[in-house]
Amino acid sequence: MSSSLDIIVIGGGAAGFFAAITCAQTHPHSRVTLLESTSKVLTKVRIAGGGRCNVTHHCFEPAQLITYYPRGGRELRGAFTRFQPKDLIEWFESQGVALKTETDGRVFPVSDTSETIVDCLIKTAKKAKVNIDINSEVINLIKKNNHFQVELKTGKILKCDRILVATGSNKIGYQLAKSLGHEIILPIPSLFTFKIKDFRFQGLEGIGLNQVGLKLLGTEKKQQYQQSGSFLITHWGISGFGVLKLSAFGAKILHKKKYNMSLLINFLFPDNTDEVKQKLLIAKSQNQRSNKLISSYPLFNLPKRLWKKLLEYANIDCEKNWSELSQKETIKLAKELTQGQYEIIEKGVFKDEFVTCGGVNLKEINFKTMESKVCPHLYLAGEVLDIDGVTGGFNLQSAWTTGWLAGKAIGNK
Ligand SMILES: Cc1cc2nc3c(=O)[nH]c(=O)nc-3n(C[C@H](O)[C@H](O)[C@H](O)COP(=O)(O)OP(=O)(O)OC[C@H]3O[C@@H](n4cnc5c(N)ncnc54)[C@H](O)[C@@H]3O)c2cc1C
Repeated sequence: MSSSLDIIVIGGGAAGFFAAITCAQTHPHSRVTLLESTSKVLTKVRIAGGGRCNVTHHCFEPAQLITYYPRGGRELRGAFTRFQPKDLIEWFESQGVALKTETDGRVFPVSDTSETIVDCLIKTAKKAKVNIDINSEVINLIKKNNHFQVELKTGKILKCDRILVATGSNKIGYQLAKSLGHEIILPIPSLFTFKIKDFRFQGLEGIGLNQVGLKLLGTEKKQQYQQSGSFLITHWGISGFGVLKLSAFGAKILHKKKYNMSLLINFLFPDNTDEVKQKLLIAKSQNQRSNKLISSYPLFNLPKRLWKKLLEYANIDCEKNWSELSQKETIKLAKELTQGQYEIIEKGVFKDEFVTCGGVNLKEINFKTMESKVCPHLYLAGEVLDIDGVTGGFNLQSAWTTGWLAGKAIGNK
């Protein structure tokens, strides 16, 4: 039922904007005010995806989509049946923003600039009569009977009937949610690269592989700590989708171990050590290969420089021919190729995307409406919640979806 409620949205990011627009369009008689602490709205959307803004991912099946969320997937299952990437793409296209899907499934504006997305959101919010107040940092939130009292840093006090906290991974936002009875799961980093100093990577910066297997040693029983995907050797260590995925699924254990853990790399994923050993034995006996230098004729399409490093590390003489590879060396090489051990010594940075694991406990939220179960008429959306996805547009999608759900519900009496 539409009403003339006073609604305040705290946070001018993706979730706050989408919620404010949805609310103002769904409940045109409500007065919607969006408060942003800084002098600029949508800062993260602006820098997202290296300035191109990877708005979502081309994955239209909710059951599949939730597998990209180390935290929040289960809760988002139903939410994605109501508003998912397909709906988002249609939404932007209905506002005149053309989007394109890249071969890896990431969706960007055709313009290749995040300004298109920012402009569209600001324009649509203004058209829907959302009142946008910048330089309005909320420092305190009090519930009084059936309304909220909102205190700004400027000293101003505002009153509203419904409130949405969409403050992202910001300390004050967590404090506001906590002050109204919410539990905050410890916020820690997710989506980072691994710093590794190892002879085997020296001088190989820039070498990448499409598919490697990565496992955190000592956690073999847990599937989430075994990931696969692309891999890139950098000046610092390693990056790539597989690494970022493991950093997200392993965010908590890596934090607990202070980013010092052993990593097993399978350069030939999905083959295992035995399968690789058999392939090496076959290669060794092949006429066209047996009298060739093992170092000059790599197997498995591995880059020659990486192959040589791995041979050296396994103490296999690079001047040997394939036919001279002993049984013991074959086993050693197969192991090096499929379960080489590397030491993660620090967390690196991934400049294109970064997200926080942790936030408001999801058990306290009704995912049909995003209303708090512990504080009625308070709604939460976006990264302030304990939701995070892997890289590829999933983080913004959860902000759009939770913002949309909150916007639909918040104006109901
Ligand atoms: C460098 C970088 C690149 C990224 N690229 C991508 C990408 O390409 N694709 C993708 O899916 N995800 C990307 N992400 C993640 C994505 O940007 C976030 O998950 C998403 O922006 C979260 O949206 P949000 O609205 O919840 O929070 P935010 O975008 O953080 O917005 C919260 C807003 O609330 C304001 N605020 C906080 N506290 C207060 C307060 N007390 N009073 C008033 N206002 C307040 C903040 O100033 C901010 O504007 C990227 C993140 C980073 C850091």
